[in-house]
Amino acid sequence: MQNRPRTDDATNQRPWRLVGPVVVGAAGLNLWALWRISEYERLFLPMLLLALVMVGNGFVMIRIRVRSTNIGTSPTTAIMTVAAALLPAPPLILGTVCGKLLYLLTRRDVDPVKASFNVAKETLCASAATFAATAAGIHPMLLEPHSSFLDVIPGMFAGFLAYTLSDEIISQALFALVTHTSYRQRLAVQASTQVVPRLGLFAVALATIAAYHISEWLLLVLPPLVYAIHLAAANQVRTRQGNEAWQRLAEATDEFNSVDQTAVLYAAVRRAADIFSTDEAEVEIHPPTGGARLVRSNGTQILFDGAPEDAPTAEGFLIPVALESYRGDADLGELRLRWRGHSPVRFTEREQYTLRTFTAALCTAIRNAATFAETQRLADSHARAAAQDPLTRLANRRRLQQHGDEILAAGSGAGVVGVVLIDLNHFKEVNDTLGHAEGDRVLIAVAERLTAAARPGDLVARFGGDEFAVILAGLSAPALAELRAQTMLNALTPPIALDDMRISVEASCGVTTGSGGTIGELLRRADVALYQAKQEGQRIVVYAQSRDTADVGSLTLGGDLARALAEQQFTVHFQPIVDLASGRVIAAEALTRWHHPDRGYLPPDRFLGAIERSGQLAAFADAVLDQALIAVIEWGDAGYPVPVAVNVSPRSLLDPSFPDAVARRLGARGVPSSALVIELTESVTLSKLEVVDDVLAALRDLGIRLALDDFGTGFSSLATLARVPVDELKIDRSFVAAMEASAPGAVVRSTIDLSRSLDLLVVAEGVEREDQRQQLWELGCPAGQGHLFARAMPADRMLAALDRGEGHLAAPLHDTGAVIRMSRSRRARRMSMGGEPQGRERST
Ligand code: C2E
Ligand code: CA
Ligand code: CA
Repeated sequence: MQNRPRTDDATNQRPWRLVGPVVVGAAGLNLWALWRISEYERLFLPMLLLALVMVGNGFVMIRIRVRSTNIGTSPTTAIMTVAAALLPAPPLILGTVCGKLLYLLTRRDVDPVKASFNVAKETLCASAATFAATAAGIHPMLLEPHSSFLDVIPGMFAGFLAYTLSDEIISQALFALVTHTSYRQRLAVQASTQVVPRLGLFAVALATIAAYHISEWLLLVLPPLVYAIHLAAANQVRTRQGNEAWQRLAEATDEFNSVDQTAVLYAAVRRAADIFSTDEAEVEIHPPTGGARLVRSNGTQILFDGAPEDAPTAEGFLIPVALESYRGDADLGELRLRWRGHSPVRFTEREQYTLRTFTAALCTAIRNAATFAETQRLADSHARAAAQDPLTRLANRRRLQQHGDEILAAGSGAGVVGVVLIDLNHFKEVNDTLGHAEGDRVLIAVAERLTAAARPGDLVARFGGDEFAVILAGLSAPALAELRAQTMLNALTPPIALDDMRISVEASCGVTTGSGGTIGELLRRADVALYQAKQEGQRIVVYAQSRDTADVGSLTLGGDLARALAEQQFTVHFQPIVDLASGRVIAAEALTRWHHPDRGYLPPDRFLGAIERSGQLAAFADAVLDQALIAVIEWGDAGYPVPVAVNVSPRSLLDPSFPDAVARRLGARGVPSSALVIELTESVTLSKLEVVDDVLAALRDLGIRLALDDFGTGFSSLATLARVPVDELKIDRSFVAAMEASAPGAVVRSTIDLSRSLDLLVVAEGVEREDQRQQLWELGCPAGQGHLFARAMPADRMLAALDRGEGHLAAPLHDTGAVIRMSRSRRARRMSMGGEPQGRERST
């Protein structure tokens, strides 16, 4: 059953314009009723009954909060219409007012101003009802018991109409003043929504009087009946309200789906003001990196956006909610809901729940936006670190490789490409006698001279240590390369002036040229030539294939590869990956060796390129995977559930049938996919092609974890990370090798931080010394592999090693006096690489 809106509360200044006249008018009417009441002594009991019904009515009221004002709905319309048919004006007015006052007495914390407005408004509406009924010719039935039922209908309708209109006019006026909305609009809305429920109440009133006509005792049956109907209606209102709230909450969380902090904060304050019906809402965040920010809105506009200390002070009743991170350990800031005026606002249970959900979604959104911003920042710094040698500001090895790939890909149109590798002689002595600082100055001077001697289009790079490389582009003939190398070396001849001495540096160099192939191959050849130069004490050696014993290319021609596969000459060795803290083996990486009948064990760098080009890649990858799975089973049977990480060549990821081949292997060996990690190297292809996305998605769907190998060495590290949902990052061993006690290096630190914020496992490669292990662990890196723990070895030797150490390969760190900084649970989670699929905590 619906109802009439009734203002229960009113706040702030403007409403006084209305409250004043209403209270004064009502006081006059009450005085008049008091003066006339003595004429109706015998109606004292019905008057008391009316008062009691009004008290009960107060209790069944449903309150809906709009801003800080509560709008109540109750069946008063029906009561007043019935009363207007039964009672004359003075007892009706006094009965209503007494009931209202009695009800207010039962409630604590009523504001006297609001209470008097309510009583006054009820007086006015009740008077309007009774006077209109009288004017329409009603004779109160309790005075003239025999008037016929049909006779009272017009009078009742007049009373009903007068009550409804006066009620709506006064209530909506106050409402419009409080919410600063248009009065006319409010009335229009009420007219369209209230007609049917009000007429329903009129019908109830008619039924009541009809029942009374049959027997006055029936009146006693009616209140419970009416109450039941009212409760049903109330429930419906609540459900509707709940649904609306969820709808709006869903819309809000949808809007949070942005990685832009401003968009998230603006949506948050606008939506909060709307959903929680506040006058203002604001969010203040204080990221650990600094830059506190406050955004405030009134629901329609953004009122303020800036540093919290610059925000204009805001007054009113406040509900603050802390924004805590999902672990509850970090505090992101605060959401504040504010209402003008000082009357307290109490949330219903549903509202409290909505608020909690809203806040949780907001926290996630703020954190996601922060992570994204951090990722962007790291992307920039990685791109720089990945391309530049920090000491000399020359290109580094990766930059040179990328540049080389680019010009070689451009084809012969770019002319002949020359590679010059330069190595300083006796540089170690300079370092040892003069110290590192002076050594660095020499390197910088060398860099400057090489740069000056280079031509436009050449690229000069430093490979770390005292090794430099120059790519000569667009040579018109291969022979020119040697001449240009000569010029470079000549530039180094004049002594270099340090503070009070002059140092002459000597250098050796290896030169090679090509107009196709890979830059890796050209570098390797230049390296072979440089090695010969050093061996033979020459300044320059030009690469000659006849003197290269390492060229596997010629081996592969005679169908060596096919035979190697058929005869299982490829053997897979395993390098343990250990938990840095405990020394426990948590996984093993499969590394393939070619056990060549004539040449002995060949490392993968020697044959992988040939395999990729040979068309035998799928068979090779399958053979490697199979050996890896056999090892997993062997260790598992011995009680070591150690998952295996297998390297895949980027080309396998271009093969749409690759995931099926993997799934078939797993199935054939009966190994769960959770025991397999696939290591991907970032490469240009990885970040560009759709088929790669599909292959990776299929592998993940199988339940296989993905690790990004050699992380930090490519330009695309972060782009790849954004595109490929990996579970693990492997810090390239060159970064670990470059770590110094005082400065671990930006890439190591930021990779660990990044993997933490994305909740990825991070594994450091190439850990060779105890101090590296210690430092990595202190930075928050949980796992590592390297010669410190073990080299790659056959599966059975690894099993023996596991047996010897009962699953451990090194003494725990804390035994050697380390400070434990990670909590147990955290360590356990990060290490949980065991055979089961790991439950990773991700933000939701
Ligand atoms: P990777 O994936 O980065 O493998 C780690 C390499 O670092 C291995 O060289 C390993 O022996 C070496 N290493 C491990 N610990 C240390 C250390 O403490 N210090 C130093 N200096 N080196 C360490 P490896 O076995 O020569 O493998 C070279 C690369 O060949 C691998 O690099 C991987 O990308 C690739 N590879 C190996 N096996 C396979 C395979 O079966 N398939 C494919 N597609 N690629 C493979
Ligand atoms: Ca690897
Ligand atoms: Ca690696």
